[in-house]
Amino acid sequence: MSYDVNNVFAKILRKEIPCKSIYEDDRVLSFYDINPKAKIHALVVVKGAYQDFSDFTTHATPEEMQGFLHGILATVEALNLTQDGYRLVLNTGKNSGQEVPHLHAHILGGEPLSTNL
Ligand code: AMP
Repeated sequence: MSYDVNNVFAKILRKEIPCKSIYEDDRVLSFYDINPKAKIHALVVVKGAYQDFSDFTTHATPEEMQGFLHGILATVEALNLTQDGYRLVLNTGKNSGQEVPHLHAHILGGEPLSTNL
């Protein structure tokens, strides 16, 4: 399956759809999830055109990979989640329930989270 340039996160990156932004640099844009599953629920979206984690780790440059990790950490820090902790989720492909086919990490926190993964 090829990358869909009209997925919702591609539209957010092109500023065609608004978002409540948290952090942005050359490699990522992070913003609040529109349908939060925890008190704090953020999404970190890579700026490159990658469908999911498998596509990204197979094809991205080391700089893009480093930029994704850095963007996640910068978002965690912007949300003040370092001390109390948080959960990272990377839904990948059909069986994970991935809805948006553009690589993104979920950051969940702000309260104790269910231990059911
Ligand atoms: P996933 O199932 O991992 O693909 O997660 C996609 C996430 O994107 C879901 O948690 C949605 O609530 C969220 N989402 C979809 N559209 C938007 C939007 N326009 N702004 C913010 N979050 C969105």
